Amino acid sequence: MYHDAVGQFDRVAELMGLDKNVAARLRVPQKSTIVAFPFRRDTYKDVETIFGYRVQHLTTMGPTKGGIRYAPDVNLGEVAALAMLMTWKCAIVGVPFGGAKGGVRIDPMQLSRAELQRVTRRYTMEIINVIGPEKDIPAPDLGTNEQVMAWLMDTYSQYVGHAVPAIVTGKPPALGGSVARREATGRGLVFLIPQAANAIGLDGNGLDVAIHGFGNVGLYAAIAAQQAGHKVIAVSDISGGIYNPDGIDVPSAQKWVQEHKYLEGYPEADHITNEQLLGLECDVLIPAAVQGVINTDTARDVKARIIIEGANNPTTIEGDEILREREVFIVPDILANAGGVTVSYFEWVQDVQKYFWTENETVARLREIMTKAFDDVYSISISENVDMRTAALIKGIKRVADAKLVRGVFP
Ligand code: GLU
Repeated sequence: MYHDAVGQFDRVAELMGLDKNVAARLRVPQKSTIVAFPFRRDTYKDVETIFGYRVQHLTTMGPTKGGIRYAPDVNLGEVAALAMLMTWKCAIVGVPFGGAKGGVRIDPMQLSRAELQRVTRRYTMEIINVIGPEKDIPAPDLGTNEQVMAWLMDTYSQYVGHAVPAIVTGKPPALGGSVARREATGRGLVFLIPQAANAIGLDGNGLDVAIHGFGNVGLYAAIAAQQAGHKVIAVSDISGGIYNPDGIDVPSAQKWVQEHKYLEGYPEADHITNEQLLGLECDVLIPAAVQGVINTDTARDVKARIIIEGANNPTTIEGDEILREREVFIVPDILANAGGVTVSYFEWVQDVQKYFWTENETVARLREIMTKAFDDVYSISISENVDMRTAALIKGIKRVADAKLVRGVFP
């Protein structure tokens, strides 16, 4: 994944004629922290050794920003790639952060609440010197949530001796979390559906939408899509997908998952595999779970005319080529899912100012930023005659390179 991210950067840097000195620096992360720490499960006598990472790609623009993922196979390359993508993402929506990402190599689905809390507090202690409200601000990502952010905030606050809400975003509103942060990534994706449809001459109302995923991003994308008048025909999780051509009742599927943990067994739809979901006949496909799902094996089966990437890096380089040949309109992750970090920025601003906004204000500002970012990227794609992913990278890289060149070199 890291080689793919660097390869993609090199290709675009070359295309834009980027200053060679700046390019050499931007293709690697500025600071990478790897930690190993002991962890005891509730019922085990043994002590396991757990690996954790925090990678900060760029400190030129302000503090670094990015989520923390808990997954059994997370590794340094993945986290470094995602930290780089966060830099471009922040620059595309114009929030004053550089990119970062963290990870803990553990399966959160196998942990009790107490275990999840212990892992989180110990990992936070291990990285405590590299994070801070003016330094590096974590947020949720795959396998983490508001509660995990609350424990992180509490651990950091205990360490410094006073409450520091701005250390983390995506925390519960009771601790200084922003209203509408939880739904932000999903909503942001749905805001872009009419613009994407317009770009290919399709009426952007009442479209059939299939969503791969039903978690932090997919669930709220499904709710937002339904509220916007689209028909959500399928969603999925690791247990498989559910499909109903007449539309899934999203609140009832959400309730089922709250009670049964997985979509498996949900009665009011047909059951399909995740691969089948990706190949469904629909207008819009939203991959909103893990990386690499649209690849050489699956890309040829995609029938959607529009893909809006909710997950980070859901399409491999080979998958991307196949989709481009088939003229699928792709709204790339670094633009499409930037609603999350945008409301994270709002949350940080509110925490620093200790002045909180209403839901209407927050959502209106999110919509304004997302739709403008789409228009900017789309104009670049037309003027430079490139696909949307390349256009998004050009916009992100250019903003960062401009800032680096005026800051100059120390000493
Ligand atoms: N993890 C999310 C992302 O990949 C959110 C990051 C943030 O809010 O800082 O964009």
